[in-house]
Amino acid sequence: MEFPLFKTKIDGTSQGFDLTDPSERKKYFELKAGSEIKKLQKFLEDGNTFIAYLLGKKNSGKGTYAKMFREIVSPERIEHFSIGDMVRSFDGVLKDKEKRKELVSFLEKNYRGYSSLKGIISSLEKRSTKTLLPSELILALVKREIVKKGRKALFIDGFPRDLDQVSYSLFFRDLIDYRDDPDVFVLIDVPEKVIDERIKYRRVCPTCQTSRNLKLLPTKKVGYDKEKKEFYLLCDNPECKDVRMVQKEGDEFGIEPIRQRLKKDEMLMEKAFSLYGIPKILLRNSVPVADASKFVDDYEITPEYIFRYEKETDKVKINENPWQVLDDKGVLSYSLMPPPVVVSLIKQMVKVLNLDKGF
Ligand SMILES: [Zn+2]
Repeated sequence: MEFPLFKTKIDGTSQGFDLTDPSERKKYFELKAGSEIKKLQKFLEDGNTFIAYLLGKKNSGKGTYAKMFREIVSPERIEHFSIGDMVRSFDGVLKDKEKRKELVSFLEKNYRGYSSLKGIISSLEKRSTKTLLPSELILALVKREIVKKGRKALFIDGFPRDLDQVSYSLFFRDLIDYRDDPDVFVLIDVPEKVIDERIKYRRVCPTCQTSRNLKLLPTKKVGYDKEKKEFYLLCDNPECKDVRMVQKEGDEFGIEPIRQRLKKDEMLMEKAFSLYGIPKILLRNSVPVADASKFVDDYEITPEYIFRYEKETDKVKINENPWQVLDDKGVLSYSLMPPPVVVSLIKQMVKVLNLDKGF
């Protein structure tokens, strides 16, 4: 599996953007992919759709990329659909008498599989992250959700999740009556070291559950705990009144607890990669440091934030540096901010949908 480098740099321009700011991000996309965005918008306005399966390791940013694509191209005509979110939403459904009845009667009509419906409902109720729900059930439930949402272009996150589900995904568009709509696999390559640090430095607000990163995505206010000799983030949400963000139990181990899962995700990507007949979009999150200046602009590189506590003023000083990591082959690399990866997604999507031949 080789993920080519994608050039988002426009030679001869020196204009920079703050990619964390939504309005600057809009201008950035206009500059880097304006004409492709218009082609996609026209395609969708004409009543066309597509189905894109997001495949990447856990915590590779699948949801982030799809949501940003949707935000930029068409929030009305594109849906980002996460199987994990869907399954979690059933907790509420099963507790509500009416909704539960409706779900059960839908499944009685639409589910065909090897596990009994009764057993399935109870496994939904006792859902633990370790038990995988049967593929036949996932398919029936996804179909139900899609019918509810109406006809839209779909980014599906979390399916296929197992090797046997790869072949299910090939027939999926027939199942939901999208039979003439193009489908595509979107494969996302992120170095494990990036995933590891995203987890290790993750901090979560105990009040509003917002997630940030002490090293890669800090909040505006950073404090220093003199006793523990460590820095901490204060939630930006005004309603949270400067509550201190915390590390979730287990996050300090980074990818160690999910190694098996990452291996499985990689096998799944390889299987999808080897399929003929379905187009593939290849996204990569990292660029070798040695090639970076040819392919990307400086502001497209993820910075790392370095804090220093100043005793005299009792303040925390913040410094920014381009973050360097070793990729899975041991090559010193930069990790890209989400927007340049989404530019690559937009441009490749235009090609896959054959929209690049004139207007
Ligand atoms: Zn908060």
